[in-house]
Amino acid sequence: MPTGTLHIDLEAIAANWRALDAMSAPSCETAAVVKADAYGLGLTAVAPRLAREGARAFFVATVEEGLALRRTLGPEPRIYCFYGHMAGDTTDIQRADLVPMLCSVDQLTRHLEALPRHPFGLQLDSGMNRLGLKEAEWAAVSDIALEAGPVLLTSHLASSDNPSSEQNAAQLAVFRRMTDGIDVPRSLAATGGTLLGPAYHFDMVRPGIGLYGGLPYAKAEPVVALELPVIACFDVARGEGVGYGASWIAPADARIATVAGGYADGLHRALQPGLDVMAGKVPCPVVGRVSMDLLTVDISHLDSDPEHVSVLSPHHGVDMLAEQAGTIGYEMLTSLGRRYQTKYRGL
Ligand SMILES: *Cc1c(COP(=O)(O)O)cnc(C)c1O
Repeated sequence: MPTGTLHIDLEAIAANWRALDAMSAPSCETAAVVKADAYGLGLTAVAPRLAREGARAFFVATVEEGLALRRTLGPEPRIYCFYGHMAGDTTDIQRADLVPMLCSVDQLTRHLEALPRHPFGLQLDSGMNRLGLKEAEWAAVSDIALEAGPVLLTSHLASSDNPSSEQNAAQLAVFRRMTDGIDVPRSLAATGGTLLGPAYHFDMVRPGIGLYGGLPYAKAEPVVALELPVIACFDVARGEGVGYGASWIAPADARIATVAGGYADGLHRALQPGLDVMAGKVPCPVVGRVSMDLLTVDISHLDSDPEHVSVLSPHHGVDMLAEQAGTIGYEMLTSLGRRYQTKYRGL
């Protein structure tokens, strides 16, 4: 028995890609970011569905992810790797026809020496201070880099989830200063930047989280639902403790359901108190500590013992769950774990 069933709606992912695609001009390409196993939802299921929808450009983080994606999608789509060209990557980049997004002068040197005629892109740092060539570095090497013919110039926004952040316009200005007048396609926007409007779109937008139903794309169609089986139900008397450390003491006689699924399945230990799971349409509070494989739930108010409960549903999405755990939808999705049975709609 798997710990639960993770329902993943590929039709919703496709609809989210279409809706994000419709936000930019027809001349602007909409890529799809599928790093970290498509944000935990399964690269080999998600990427072909997006390709069928019309996506022609995909981003992954590592070259290993790029290899897997190439095997899945065949020779046509362009696959960009955010980690760029690291030591030891050369053979794989060539073999799988990957486009490394070079992010430092060292990587540029490595790439031009190892694969002088192989396509590459460049990541420029417009102020996030994470990856990419700084403005001064770019000024020093841009002639050599442009001579070699990059296929894409990108930068990444640090605060695009917050439309009122002044950092957005500041980074836009730096990116323009670094790239205006250069005849190479440009991309600045992830999901948040796509929502900021046309000034941020350039030649390509590259959403990730919005495809998977997460904020900042508040209008996204929900993508995941999670159902967990109930293993056992039993009564506890008023004053008895439940779970590790007896962190919850029954304030009255109560009935408890013990449910398959715990922090090893991405249900963070930080989730309770305050987390409700749903038995049908009835919310039931998680009581006691979340343990590695189990949750305990107060079902005293139900007419009968449930066979399963739902933790994620269209009405109770990843961002609600994430907020309860003090994290973000991105982390919630990517930590869901490998013990669930996965059921895809629209495969
Ligand atoms: C992850 C990532 C994206 C996608 O970001 P979302 O916020 O998930 O849309 C785009 N660009 C870069 C450089 C990234 O690392």
